[in-house]
Amino acid sequence: MADCSRCRAKPSYYTRRYSGESLCADCFRVTLVEKVRRTITKHGMIAHGDRVGVAVSGGKDSLSLLRVLQELSGGKYELIALTVDEGVQGYRDEAIEHARSLCEDLGVEQVVVSYSGLFGFSLDQALDWKDERGLSSCSICGVFRRRAIDEAAAKARVGVLATAHNLDDYVQTFMMNLLHGDVDRLGWLDLSTSGEAFPVRRVKPFTEVYEEEIALYAYLSKIPFQSVSCPYMHEGLRSEVRDYLNEMEAKHPGMKHVLLNSALKVSSKLSKGDAAKKTLACAKCGKPSSQEVCGVCRMTEIVWQHAKYTGS
Ligand code: SF4
Ligand code: ZN
Repeated sequence: MADCSRCRAKPSYYTRRYSGESLCADCFRVTLVEKVRRTITKHGMIAHGDRVGVAVSGGKDSLSLLRVLQELSGGKYELIALTVDEGVQGYRDEAIEHARSLCEDLGVEQVVVSYSGLFGFSLDQALDWKDERGLSSCSICGVFRRRAIDEAAAKARVGVLATAHNLDDYVQTFMMNLLHGDVDRLGWLDLSTSGEAFPVRRVKPFTEVYEEEIALYAYLSKIPFQSVSCPYMHEGLRSEVRDYLNEMEAKHPGMKHVLLNSALKVSSKLSKGDAAKKTLACAKCGKPSSQEVCGVCRMTEIVWQHAKYTGS
């Protein structure tokens, strides 16, 4: 086997097709962490002395993010893991346990919030009515999840919120917004302004890392993670977009990266134009909202109405 193109000492283990580098396992890990460091610096994501909340679900991406940020912090900023328990029987407990155990190993404080505690119902209960509305489980869940993470961030008194969205997530979301004709949302993807109107700034340090490389990092770092997907996951168009992008990347290595750069430029331009996100205060709960009444209040109302109707 050819030598590692970086240290020239150990056998190569992984070839980055988009750059042509062949790396040993150690150099692969070092270069991934370095890439995240550069992303953080380039986009001014985290500053000295910040109190950083890391959204840790217990999947490979979020556990790897916590580990990488811990390695990069070197005591310069503080990390607190924020975990949301949606309340999915027989699925969520394992992931929460993985998150708890990594936090313990790394000596990171963990704050857990639950849908039941925050909204008065679990995801299992909330989804009981969904078939009648023609909304996907994830679009309903996502509304509550974003609020739950905001609440966890407030509880932990963090100033920055890091999520584990990776390069693949970013370009898939960009393509999905294009295919849905949702031009306003393209502007929301801008890294430097996203969530500006919200109390906690959101950052995505894995934006320039391929999903496949995060999986490899988790494996090499012996991070145990939950591999079973949420039973409600229904991806529809997203999985078709993912397959298409994977096919393009296989034929033209580096294409996802080129798409990411185009997407960043487009979203940056749009976020400064008329399409920029307008934030109001929800008339019911006072939380930031893009409409008069926020999604959480609208959905909560429907869940309660349904519970009253069915007596559940
Ligand atoms: Fe919620 Fe969908 Fe994630 Fe399940 S997969 S936890 S339904 S967003
Ligand atoms: Zn509201």
